Formats: sequence, C-alpha cells, structure tokens
Amino acid sequence: MIPLVDLKEELNLFRDEIYDSIKEVIESSSFILGSKGQQLENKVADYLGASYGIGVANGTDALFLSLKALGIGPGDEVITTPFTFFATAEVIANVGATPVFVDIEEETYNINPKNIQQAITPKTKAIIIVHLFGLSAQMTEMKKIAEEYNLFLIEDACQAIGTKHKGQYVGSIGDVGCFSFFPSKNLGAFGDAGMIVTSNETVYEKLIQLRNHGSIKRYHHSMLGYNSRLDEIQAAVLLVKFKFLDQFIANRIEIAKTYTENLKDKVRTPSIPENLEHTFHQYCIETSHRDELMEYLSKHQIASAIYYPIPLHLQEAFRNLGYKEGDFPISEKVAKNILALPIGPTLTNEQQRYIIQVIKDFFAQKENKN
Ligand SMILES: *Cc1c(COP(=O)(O)O)cnc(C)c1O
Repeated sequence: MIPLVDLKEELNLFRDEIYDSIKEVIESSSFILGSKGQQLENKVADYLGASYGIGVANGTDALFLSLKALGIGPGDEVITTPFTFFATAEVIANVGATPVFVDIEEETYNINPKNIQQAITPKTKAIIIVHLFGLSAQMTEMKKIAEEYNLFLIEDACQAIGTKHKGQYVGSIGDVGCFSFFPSKNLGAFGDAGMIVTSNETVYEKLIQLRNHGSIKRYHHSMLGYNSRLDEIQAAVLLVKFKFLDQFIANRIEIAKTYTENLKDKVRTPSIPENLEHTFHQYCIETSHRDELMEYLSKHQIASAIYYPIPLHLQEAFRNLGYKEGDFPISEKVAKNILALPIGPTLTNEQQRYIIQVIKDFFAQKENKN
C-alpha cells in the first residue's frame, strides 16, 4: 500500500541522529521544560521571524491557550471557517465563546475575506484564519479587516509551517500563530506536540504561565492555568527533523507540480492564486466521482483520504449553533468532491507515476462505459 505519507521511509533519513537525541534526554533525566524545548522554541521563532515561541502539548492547545491569552471567553464571538479540522472551532466553544462560520473561497478552500464583514457584530473579538492544506490565506485582506474592526487575528498554521505570504512566514503575521507537530504534519513529532509564536511580549508572558499552571516561579501561581507543555523527548525529535523541513517542503511542491501537470484534464487540481504560496501538507483534487475513485485507488494499493467529509456547521457537536444544510454551499460542495492523494516527501517518481496511471485508467474506464 502506498500511504498518504510514509513515516517509516522518512525515518531512514535520520534514525541514528534522532535516537542519539532522544538518548541525550533520557540520560539527562530532564523531561519537561528543559533545554531541548527551549532550543526548539528559539529555532522555530527565529525561522518564522517571530519574537517568541511557546512550546505546548499539541496544536489544539496552541489555539485554546491563544484564545485564553487574548482574553476571549463567554459572550464573545470568533469568526472562522467551517471547512477545517474540528479543533479550529472546538477551542472557540471550549473557552466559552461562540464560533461564527463564514464560507470559503472555491479556489483556495480558505475563508473568503469578502464574506467576513457581514458576520461581524459588536461581540466579535477575533478571527481564526486557517491556512488549509498548506496554502496561505489572503492575509493582506485579513489584516485590513482585523485592523478596521479592532479584532485579534489568530493564525491556525497547523498545516502550514514553512508557508510564506508575500515574503513573510504564515504564523508570524497575525497576533499569534499556532502550529501542530502531530506526527503526520509537515514537521511531525513522535507523539503530540505543538507551538505558539507571537511577537507580543504581553501575550507571551501570559502564554508561558497558562501552559504551566499559571506559574513561572515554581509553586508560585499568579493565575489559573493548564498543564500543556511540549516535552523534551518530542523536542529532541523535532530539533533533528526541523533540519529537513525546507527540503521536505521542496519535495512536496515538486510532487504537487507533477500531479497537476498530469491530472489537470481529468480532475480539479489545486489552484494557487498569484502572490500566495502552498507547501502542500495535502494535495487535494476534486471530482464528482470521488467515492468511486477512492475505492478504485484502494483496490490498487493506493491510500487516499477525505479532508473533510462534513463541514463544521453540520457537525452534531455544533447543532446548538443553529446552522443548517445550505448555509455554506461552497464548503458543502467541496466536502462532497474532495480527495487527498499521497504526497509525503519520500514519495518516489516511480510511485507517483503509478498513482497517476491508476487515476488515468479510472477515468478512461469511465469514458468507455459512457
Ligand atoms: C492538526 C490540526 C489541528 C490540531 O492539532 P493537534 O496537534 O492534533 O491538536 C488544528 N487545526 C488544524 C487545521 C489542524 O490541521
């Protein structure tokens, strides 16, 4: 089976170095908030061009703690996209605020800046912008809206580490940027891990307390916080893998190009608007024969996946928000047609040629039947 991303194959590139790095942590017996985590925070913040990095337990907590640090809670509304991973909106409800959804652009799958103004009310406090699949959202427009209405801009860059927007890395453009190091993300740990970056010192001070029981000095608690830290073993893994990030992104972009050249006549391939960058955490096509194609690929030992089959406004967990089918037609349409193809950085030319051939065969058979 060709997997969506081949983590076993990747491991061959840095196995010894990672094992040594993990061993150092074990021998040092410093497992929580030690030097590896700090090194990683500095490296990631420097790379992205932000002043501070705050390691946390996962990407979901990065978003949750960011909302907390910005003082968002009951009575507040936060605007976001219904076409994203559940966590993006889950955290809004979990701080006691109300998620307000706004439909996406058909071309980019990211929130449509043109739809935002009409969703703003006196209760709106923030926008969580998602750079879905690794494609930068329209940050110039987003910043303009945020400034005009005095809203916080939170970047969910969980799928987009290393993506730039007009020369600036996403995650460092808004008030805070949130990253996930879930194993299958473009920079993945050997377990759960995440990071927040910000250049706002006040927000940074709050975040380092919030992630550690409201404490900077041991057993002195200035506020109620949480236990959400990036542990040293994950930091040890990530410090090694971080060195491969740019090369891995370059590989993904190359693979994406080859898919698009070969498939654009058969399916809808990703479009990248001028001035925006895509790092292809996922390579997603659209076809009205999606479910059949998925089955055909599986029969030919090729993995594929649907991100995401149900837009968030139609999720059972958000039924209380009162949305209904038809509210966000673009998200709903895309959810029915979208399919992610294998695009790990170690995918070989031979594997990709095979995948492309199988997809072409599928459509040739369909045409013959008609
Ligand atoms: C992965 C992801 C998250 C959550 O990250 P975890 O580390 O799994 O908690 C949030 N938002 C988006 C868009 C993601 O892709």
